Amino acid sequence: MSGTATRKGHVFVVAAPSGTGKTTLCARVLEEDPGLTLSVSHTTRAPRPGEVDGVHYHFVDEEAFLALQRQGEFLEHAEYNGHNYGTSWSAIRAPLEAGRDVVLEIEVQGAEQVRERMPDAILVFLLPPSLAVLEARLRGRMTDSDAVIAKRLALVDRELAAAKHFDFAIVNDDLEVAVRQVLDVIEAVRAGERETVSARHGRARVLADWQAAQR
Ligand code: 5GP
Repeated sequence: MSGTATRKGHVFVVAAPSGTGKTTLCARVLEEDPGLTLSVSHTTRAPRPGEVDGVHYHFVDEEAFLALQRQGEFLEHAEYNGHNYGTSWSAIRAPLEAGRDVVLEIEVQGAEQVRERMPDAILVFLLPPSLAVLEARLRGRMTDSDAVIAKRLALVDRELAAAKHFDFAIVNDDLEVAVRQVLDVIEAVRAGERETVSARHGRARVLADWQAAQR
């Protein structure tokens, strides 16, 4: 981003296997912390009932998305379930230059691209309470067809493997506890206390404990 030199805010990426509840979690985190701005992504998928263009996503067609991609307009982009998703520089530039911290709620391939292009971004991986709970949640979503659910489940292993590129991991068992933990990470990073908060929510230990509990 040409504005890197003037960037004052932090970028927090929250990624998770689908069905982990990251949309609800991010909405609660944003409610609690007025210093945060949620990045509005572009997508080629159709709006779901209740979704508003420019609020939940910028809904664009394939052609427009590819044009933006060619013009280098995306910090990251990924294909997910047959649709394109991307975070545009223009979604995050203004808040970052104004010193506001930005939250990207995206899937894991995109998070890995952010890691490469913006090494100082803070990556938070959200884990479901267990794989069994995740599967039950995905099946319980009335908005998705069986085929979509099956695809999402097939992605979970790959998504979990990508967790090793993240800085922090948080288990979304009790929503409010998880919200506090994300806020703990955000506040510590702002205060320059990344090392201290790593002892509480560092990815390596949280993930190892979670994996041990699955057996
Ligand atoms: P949905 O279609 O359910 O809204 O989103 C599908 C997946 O795409 C979710 O995991 C969501 O977080 C992710 N997603 C939304 N916006 C972006 C984006 O800009 N970039 C990437 N890489 N993933 C996104």
